[in-house]
Amino acid sequence: MSALDAARALFAELTGREPEGVWSAPGRVNLIGEHTDYNEGFVLPFAIPHRTFAAARVRDDDRIRVASTFADERVEVALTDLDALFPTAPGAEPAVPEWSAYVLGVAWALLAAAGDAPARGVDIAIASDVPVGAGLSSSAAIEGAVASALNDLWRLGLDPVALAQVGRRAENEAVGAPTGIMDQMASMLGRPDAATFIDCRSLATESVPTGFTGEGLEVLVIDTQVTHSHSTGGYRERREACERGAALLGIRSLRDASEADLPRAAELMDDVTLRRVRHVITENQRVLDTVRTLAEHGPRMIGDLLVASHASMRDDFEISVAELDLAVETALAQGAIGARMTGGGFGGAAIALVAHDDVEKVSDAVARAFADAGFAAPHVFTVHPSDGPRRDI
Ligand code: ADP
Ligand code: MG
Repeated sequence: MSALDAARALFAELTGREPEGVWSAPGRVNLIGEHTDYNEGFVLPFAIPHRTFAAARVRDDDRIRVASTFADERVEVALTDLDALFPTAPGAEPAVPEWSAYVLGVAWALLAAAGDAPARGVDIAIASDVPVGAGLSSSAAIEGAVASALNDLWRLGLDPVALAQVGRRAENEAVGAPTGIMDQMASMLGRPDAATFIDCRSLATESVPTGFTGEGLEVLVIDTQVTHSHSTGGYRERREACERGAALLGIRSLRDASEADLPRAAELMDDVTLRRVRHVITENQRVLDTVRTLAEHGPRMIGDLLVASHASMRDDFEISVAELDLAVETALAQGAIGARMTGGGFGGAAIALVAHDDVEKVSDAVARAFADAGFAAPHVFTVHPSDGPRRDI
């Protein structure tokens, strides 16, 4: 069954009725620019064909009821209670099951963004074919699908950038995961055969044609099946190191530093902080270089930038794991144009840019290498830059 049909079926099970509509939003892959978003820097993600679907219908009362194929329980609250539930206290668990905080958090943030718009209760059923926790941003996909559904059902008229900000607020303040704006913007602004360049300070965006299709290139996603969680440990620590580094440099954020500042940074901070700072500074430059290279020389020339990005995440930011390194090394050894881990790290997925004719060879080699290393079998599939949110029914 497709995820669209699964969302409709779950809605029917939940309510005994057909939904008023079904809305969907995509996951994303980040082509380059990792851990630069919360440093007010640059990123270059694209939306992928995998999507999360929200089947929904307004109710006659003021209750919001949510279900997902991802979870067994259903969650129901009054819209007027959302303000008592959120924001979740820093470091605390949400007062509702975590998955439902993504949905209810979007409703809460949306009502706040729309002012005192009168809202009716709503039933929502979720299903998705975005792998969860794989670095493909199932979280932005669910936020984008729900935000799009409620924006229409409640006739709020918010634009895609405003909806991205609503999703981020839900994730930061309702779920309690301190993530940046990249994922939501990538999902909300997706376009076929283009990546979205985002200046995470000004939120200015630019659609950047990738030329992958014309050049016969595919992006292979190698999902290591090693799961990660952004609300814990390493991610928070990396953010703190970046904030510390910026403070020591006397700047608002690492966006304001360049490679010329690295010698001064070396005098001001300990080795670990310096390497975290160096990753962010060099990664911002690599994003700008990738945008320029795509425009001037085409996608076959961005391989070295992808490889340098991976090395920086492995050695300086220290967010890679053995499975990701093996995926990248194997893909490159089999002729990939470039490869790097993508997403927050500590597991999740790697991407490899490969010629269409090499997809099978690279996929097989990665599967073999994982088996030889005693790692769980990876999930390997291709993606291409795809559309943002839409109403499907
Ligand atoms: P990623 O965004 O990389 O997939 P995150 O940890 O940011 O990983 O988000 C995953 C979380 O988002 C899940 O644990 C779950 O709480 C929520 N989520 C994602 N997709 C769904 C879904 N289809 N139904 C319910 N919750 C979902
Ligand atoms: Mg996420």
